[in-house]
Amino acid sequence: AGAPLSGRVAVVTGASSGIGEATAERLAGLGAKVALLARRGERLDALEDRIRARGGVALALPTDVVDREALLATADRVQRELGEVDLVFANAGVQLISSIVDLAVEDWDAQIDLNVKGTMNTVQAFVRSLVSSAERGPADLIVTSSTAAVRHLERFQVYSATKAYQAQLTRLLRMELGRSKVRVSAIEPGMVDTELPDHVTDPAASQLMADLIKEIDVLQPADIAETVAFIASVPRHVNLAEVHILPTEQV
Ligand code: NDP
Repeated sequence: AGAPLSGRVAVVTGASSGIGEATAERLAGLGAKVALLARRGERLDALEDRIRARGGVALALPTDVVDREALLATADRVQRELGEVDLVFANAGVQLISSIVDLAVEDWDAQIDLNVKGTMNTVQAFVRSLVSSAERGPADLIVTSSTAAVRHLERFQVYSATKAYQAQLTRLLRMELGRSKVRVSAIEPGMVDTELPDHVTDPAASQLMADLIKEIDVLQPADIAETVAFIASVPRHVNLAEVHILPTEQV
C-alpha cells in the first residue's frame, strides 16, 4: 500500500538493458507490478530476480515486439498473471545510423520494424486495457522518442524519422485517448549512457557516438527512469505530454 505506484500494472518493453531496465526497476521499487519484455530472456530473468529480492513484483516475458502474434500472446499472459495493464512504457528501440549512400537497407528495415511497427504492435496489444483501466484510475502510455525527432543530425536520417513518427503518433493518440482519461506522453532524451550505440554497424558513425559520450557528462538510465516514474505519479488530471530531457552540456 502507501507506495506511489502500488496497485499499478506496468509493461516495459526493452526491459533487458539501458533505459527500460532502469525504469522497470524504478517502477517496481515504487510498488507497481511490472511485466518485463525484450528478447534476451536471461537478462530479464536476472532483473526479475533483483526486483523480487527487494520485495517487488516482476514477470520476465521474453518477447520480440516486432512479432505481433507473440506480443499479443504475451499481453494475454500479463493480463492473466498480473491483471489489467494501466501503464505501458513503449521503449524498445534501435539506432543504426549510417551514411545514406551506403544503402544499409537492412539497418533501415530494422529501425522501421522495431521503432515504428514495434510501437504500433505495443499500442495494439495494450490500448484497450489502458482505456478500460482509465475508468478506475490513472492510465499511462509513455513512449520513448528522442531529441533526434526534432534535431538535424547527420547520418541519423532513418532513425530520426522513426523517432519523429513516435513523437507525432503520441500527440495524435493523446487527442483520442485523453477523452478516455488515458494520459499519453513522449519522452525525448538526449544522450543516455546505454547499449544503444553498440549496435551501429557503420564504424565511423559508431566512433562519432563513442566520442560524444566521452566528451560530456551524459544522462544515465536512472535519470529517465525517474522521469517516467514522475509522469506516472502526478495527479490524474495532469498529462506531461512531451518531456525533452537533455544532458546539461549537450547543445
Ligand atoms: P539499449 O540498446 O540499452 O536498449 C534497447 C532495448 O530494446 C533492449 O532492452 C533490447 O533488448 C530491446 N529490444 C531490441 N529489439 C527488440 C525487439 N525486437 N523486441 C523487444 N525488445 C527489443 O538502448 P536504450 O536503453 O538507450 O534504448 C531505449 C530507447 O531509448 C530506444 O527507443 C532509443 O531509441 C531511445 N533513446 C535512447 C537514447 C540514448 O542516448 N541512449 C536517446 C534517445 C532515445 P533485447 O536486445 O534483449 O531484445
